[in-house]
Amino acid sequence: MILKVSYLRLDKIHDQIRGELDNAYNKVLNKEWFVKGKCCQEFEENFASYCGVNECVGVGNGLEALRLILQALDIGVGDEVIVPAHTFIATVLAISSVGAKPVLVDVDEDTFNIDAAKIKEHITDNTKAIIAVHLYGRIAEMEKIRDIAENENILLIEDSAQAHGAQINGRKAGSFGIAAAFSFYPGKNLGALGDAGAVVTNDKALAEKIRFIANYGSSGKYEHIYRGCNSRLDEIQAAFLDVKLKYLDIWNQERRKIAEVYLKSIKNEKIRLSRASREGENVYHIFPILYSERNRLIEHLKGKGIQTNIHYPTPIPLQKAYEKEFSGGSYPVTCRICREEISLPLYPGMGEAEIQHVIDSINTFV
Ligand SMILES: *Cc1c(COP(=O)(O)O)cnc(C)c1O
Repeated sequence: MILKVSYLRLDKIHDQIRGELDNAYNKVLNKEWFVKGKCCQEFEENFASYCGVNECVGVGNGLEALRLILQALDIGVGDEVIVPAHTFIATVLAISSVGAKPVLVDVDEDTFNIDAAKIKEHITDNTKAIIAVHLYGRIAEMEKIRDIAENENILLIEDSAQAHGAQINGRKAGSFGIAAAFSFYPGKNLGALGDAGAVVTNDKALAEKIRFIANYGSSGKYEHIYRGCNSRLDEIQAAFLDVKLKYLDIWNQERRKIAEVYLKSIKNEKIRLSRASREGENVYHIFPILYSERNRLIEHLKGKGIQTNIHYPTPIPLQKAYEKEFSGGSYPVTCRICREEISLPLYPGMGEAEIQHVIDSINTFV
């Protein structure tokens, strides 16, 4: 019999805290207040403090968090926003959805994050912001990016949807720019039991504006000062998130341990691992490997009972939704990652036998 290895197993962490999740559910049920109440406020305070910032606004999901930041900063038609070419589509969709123009910059081949050296050449008079993405759980080169943003008088926004708790020089994801977006989609390092997201910032006025916009643009009941939307955090998700937040560092530490074993033990000259020097505390939302004949390796692993994933198979410039938009650009590193990347199973609670089975199966692949 072969050992089956799932890509991700959330039951492994939920089983550890089942009693606490039950209590959270009962707490909300007894209160009869289900959207933006006490649980939301408590989670917002705890998550802001976790990230090392002053303000947190719970919202509907990660895409909305990004879109709300852009809207609240008055970024829209005629504005350009710089963004890595290699990211989840939501980062780019958020820019399009406010009417601004996404400007893609290729990524670095070691870190998979935006290539800071290539940002400057994409800045024009219309550039209003850069969205740095901490892809796969690794902090982008924030010092360099921040210098560029400051020198050019451009706003720096973070997409921290894959980097809850990631840090570098003691600073956490979410604390580098004017504001940061988080997603609590269930599979993220901190995940709700459904959709949820948050904006974090040190700017009190900006936080308040986002709070208003996300609640029909209301400053008070039936007083609408912005053309807002409905993007609020449910009490039940906030209550679950508050329970899970307490375990985030432990779970991230477990992810790092597994990643270290992979980095140390995977030895196959065909396969490239990402060993970036500018590592910081990577939280390994995703553990990527690169191999030029990807499908052959995926099939080999499937034959061994190992499930893998690809982040992401189609580069954004080649997506149908953006068919013509980026035809003039050149994104060789992004295209190569999209052609060769395979994400290995990695999750808190993953057993040693599973980890070893993945390693052996890759090391014996010819
Ligand atoms: C998941 C994700 C998002 C979107 O979050 P949702 O909650 O799914 O809307 C945005 N950016 C990145 C990099 C993500 O991984």
